[in-house]
Amino acid sequence: MASPDYLICLECETPTYVFEWKDGKTIEALCQICGNEDIESFATEEEYEALASDNRYSSHP
Ligand SMILES: [Zn+2]
Repeated sequence: MASPDYLICLECETPTYVFEWKDGKTIEALCQICGNEDIESFATEEEYEALASDNRYSSHP
């Protein structure tokens, strides 16, 4: 799996280019906006879009 161009910080939903990618996963990431550095709180663009399009947790019926 190729390295993504950027990761999205799930804390503030801002893309960050400051990350280390190895063997198909994030090993290090830093959000320069909110200071988040928990790799569990970052998603690739692909993952983020999957989350955003998942309506199961929406409050609307
Ligand atoms: Zn952030």
